[in-house]
Amino acid sequence: MSLKSIHNILGILEIQERWQEPPLQRVLKCWHEVVGKTLAKHTKPVWIQRDVLQVATSSAAMSQNLTFERQRLLEKLNQRLAIPLTDIHFSTANWYKSSLPKENITIALPSEHPSYVGEKLKRSRSQIFVAKDINEAYDKWAEIVKARSHDLSLCPQCQCPTPPGELQRWGVCSFCAAKQMR
Ligand SMILES: [Zn+2]
Repeated sequence: MSLKSIHNILGILEIQERWQEPPLQRVLKCWHEVVGKTLAKHTKPVWIQRDVLQVATSSAAMSQNLTFERQRLLEKLNQRLAIPLTDIHFSTANWYKSSLPKENITIALPSEHPSYVGEKLKRSRSQIFVAKDINEAYDKWAEIVKARSHDLSLCPQCQCPTPPGELQRWGVCSFCAAKQMR
């Protein structure tokens, strides 16, 4: 295995790890890096809705200044996220509230994730199969992969079967999209 392919695999694992983490959690973790320590004290990411990050700020002036900076902040932030945000909104509205109204918190369902391909995938994953030898195991694996990707369109960039949600969102598969974001 070449160094390049190892590097690619590590990249994929890193991306998968990012996906498993709820987006807001990920934002909260790297927020101080993005805005800097001082600003981090006066700002607090509160929720993400439709790819827009809502940030509470300690003052209206702070909101205004950050709004001018938001393109730069968005770029820095998206370098650290698996799924890019489209905008950041700043407001003092939630600064003093200790808990947020429940209806405003977005809980992403697996079916809302662009990589979701439906129940079919789950079922084929839970099938238990014991192979007699390595060839049979490989055949079975190839069969499952083929069955899984049967209905999927191909990524125009790497020609891999791609969930429709990913194509809709990025026009390419998630891995190609992640590469472009770097
Ligand atoms: Zn691709």
